[in-house]
Amino acid sequence: MSREIGNISIHTENILPIIKKWLYSEKDIFVRELVSNANDAAMKLKKLVSMGEARIQEDERFQIKVSINKSEKTIRFADNGIGMTGDEVKKYINQIAFSGAVDFLEKYKDKTDEGSQIIGHFGLGFYSAFMVSEKVTIDTLSWQPGSEAVKWTSTGGMEFEMDDSERTERGTTVTLYLADDSFEFLEYHKMREILEKYCSFMPFEIFLVDEEEEAKKADKEKKTEDKKEEDKGDAAGTEEDKPINDTHPLWLKAPKDCTQEEYKEFYKKVFHDFNDPLFWIHLNMDYPFNLKGILYFPKLKHEFETIEGQIKLYYNQVFVADNIKEVIPEFLMLLKGVIDCPDLPLNVSRSFLQNDGYVAKISSHITKKVADKLTSLYENERDTYNKYWDDINPFVKYGCIREEKFFDRVKDIIIYKTTNDDYVTLKDYLDRNSEKHKDKVFYVSDEKQQAQYIRLFKDQDMEAVILNTMIDNHFIQFLEMKESSVKFTRIDSDLSDSMKDTSAAETDTELSQKLEKVFKEALGDDKLKVSVEALKAASTPGIILLSEHSRRMQEMSRMYGMKGMDIGGMFPDERTLVLNTSNQLIQTVIKLSDNSEKKDDTTLICQHIYDLAMMSHKQLEPEAMTRFIERSNLLLGKLAELEVK
Ligand code: ADP
Repeated sequence: MSREIGNISIHTENILPIIKKWLYSEKDIFVRELVSNANDAAMKLKKLVSMGEARIQEDERFQIKVSINKSEKTIRFADNGIGMTGDEVKKYINQIAFSGAVDFLEKYKDKTDEGSQIIGHFGLGFYSAFMVSEKVTIDTLSWQPGSEAVKWTSTGGMEFEMDDSERTERGTTVTLYLADDSFEFLEYHKMREILEKYCSFMPFEIFLVDEEEEAKKADKEKKTEDKKEEDKGDAAGTEEDKPINDTHPLWLKAPKDCTQEEYKEFYKKVFHDFNDPLFWIHLNMDYPFNLKGILYFPKLKHEFETIEGQIKLYYNQVFVADNIKEVIPEFLMLLKGVIDCPDLPLNVSRSFLQNDGYVAKISSHITKKVADKLTSLYENERDTYNKYWDDINPFVKYGCIREEKFFDRVKDIIIYKTTNDDYVTLKDYLDRNSEKHKDKVFYVSDEKQQAQYIRLFKDQDMEAVILNTMIDNHFIQFLEMKESSVKFTRIDSDLSDSMKDTSAAETDTELSQKLEKVFKEALGDDKLKVSVEALKAASTPGIILLSEHSRRMQEMSRMYGMKGMDIGGMFPDERTLVLNTSNQLIQTVIKLSDNSEKKDDTTLICQHIYDLAMMSHKQLEPEAMTRFIERSNLLLGKLAELEVK
């Protein structure tokens, strides 16, 4: 061909600034685009070969080579794919005026906010090279018999120059001459990281080469070769000779052909987790849309860990992005997984995706699959399901809160661990406790802190469920809203009727008032709420109850970070001291209170009863603790004196 110079025809002005600043907010995307193009070129030729239209050498393998050269400040993307003729370069590279792109840019050029970012690429991929380069060349030879090699050069991306090339091998090499601000991409490790991020599962082998290192190595090899003929060829099989990518990712295999070990290994490799996942769901759908992927339920490392998942979205084995909430239901992002969905219209803006009916279908399909898997575990492997529950419950609960449809599917298989160490559904719990407390679900949020209350419960043959994850506060609120008849009550906020001793004569009001007065005086707190009951647990003189409502309000305000506000002042603790008339000590206090000479001792005893009840409820504040210790010593002294007398 004769030398040709021209303008790249772009109907929309300033296309490059748009590409640079907006279309690809992350600079490293040029790697994905150029490797994808190389990959597509190989794919196209492979197809032609399989249709018998083109021929390649029998032992020839399609591969992509990415070479960096620090001295030249270049990065080369070389493939042995379909190549381009001169006319094709003109058509595909020079005239980036395909109607779609122009329409699209017209429509979206003003929307530069992050929310409308483009997820995929839009037939402008090649030009992303100019985000990092001052000059780009394409050296290419088409597969078509009799083609002539072409060399295309453009500085800045607005004008080009085309000429003959010396190239004799089929394929394309795109060379980027990096701009001053992009030399970071010449670092081997940086480039390797980027390739691993975007290209780990592309279908053709990708190799990364440091040209200078390679030259040094070749030089050295040549010297050894000269010295020792028999060493020839030994260099094969070194680390660098291994491709960056796994060309057959597990998610593309049929589930029946995948072993447990393969699933685990894939998980560990992709998510850099040393632990095995609990279980997984292999999505494998061809119709009505093409959706492949694996979703893993990770094991939580520690109980109160905030779960952070990661869903990697792929488009025909090319990584697009993590956690795209427009495609994947938000709650599923607590899982870890890969999803490959070549049918997704990724060349549109995020806001468009959100409203796309097709995307909604995909996302509801995934939700259904997850619910089905959980249901099948519940129905067929209940023991395993119970065992996993501690790890998966935050996820299930969050899913219920976020996604109505998910809640509908799993509401009957939500289980609760009880203080008897078994796992029951809400229905089971309510049924088996219906005689003791109807529609009331007692729960424990902290087994250690509420140990004394649990003991009281157990003594009366009662049980509570354990709700100790961060999400539980929200979840019970949510459930109470959904199932209006159910009421969750923390174990220290109310007395169950079955804890009261109904055989005891009803506590008379006069006695109650008297006790209340004595305690209020002793504690110097006129506002103290006191309730007098005859409890079955005779050994306990007093317990503290804390209003469920005000406590929840406090917890919620704390959770929403109402910092600097006086939460305690807005929602003060509504504490009640329950005094147990079945208890001997309380009986003695009643008697002592009539004797004014014993007033000091009575005060000490009342204060101590209160502190002991508080201690079973929560840790004492330092000053209260000091007072408690001093008083204990005083009381012990008095007791010892009595013994001596
Ligand atoms: P897209 O890949 O989305 O079509 P690009 O701007 O990245 O958009 O590329 C435009 C066209 O240039 C491609 O569709 C392809 O026909 C051609 N092309 C780009 N890179 C190569 C390559 N390495 N080998 C062969 N053809 C290529």
